[in-house]
Amino acid sequence: MTDLRTALAWVTEGTDLCRKALAGYDDASYGAPSLLPGWSRGHVVAHLAGNAEALGNLVHWARTGERTPMYSSPEQRNAGIESGARLPADRLTAWFEQSAQTLHDAMTRLTDAQWRADVVTAQGRTVPASDIPWLRGREVMVHAVDLDAAVRFTDLPEDFLTALRDDIGARRGESTPAVVGAPAEITAYLAGRPYTGVTTVDGSPAEPLTPWL
Ligand code: ZN
Repeated sequence: MTDLRTALAWVTEGTDLCRKALAGYDDASYGAPSLLPGWSRGHVVAHLAGNAEALGNLVHWARTGERTPMYSSPEQRNAGIESGARLPADRLTAWFEQSAQTLHDAMTRLTDAQWRADVVTAQGRTVPASDIPWLRGREVMVHAVDLDAAVRFTDLPEDFLTALRDDIGARRGESTPAVVGAPAEITAYLAGRPYTGVTTVDGSPAEPLTPWL
């Protein structure tokens, strides 16, 4: 498992990548398609803002012991994405910034004992609170690529890509296909994102996977 300091640095780096992509976005830019099927860039950013608030609930849980789930229901999560995607550009960007800052501040206040407290993710997995920075880091890094701005998987740090491949492999389990190609492209492939030059071990084209995250 990635150590806490590294994961927190990935949160900062991924947030910066998103921030650079969003700088200067107007309503038309937010309305343009992302790399995720059926989602505009606005959907991606509303999801990231909602995710920061949801993970903030887990930080609160770890700090207080009060059970505060990420989302009250999948419907609530999706409604937040749909309404957020329709916000004017300046308000959507401000929501992204403010939610990211609030989560950052909350995480920096956790004590060692609180980082070890158990919380439950939206997928129903019980994890220590020290997993929260990883959960956030992979969101901001991968969705920075999904914005279809200038960021590609090849721009992400190698140690992050290695951790992401391990994480996806653990989640997809036995069904993870064995493929060959450049490490960043294999990561994109396993994440169900656009990739180039990834083949099966015998050299035939790899069968695309559904998006993950
Ligand atoms: Zn996501």
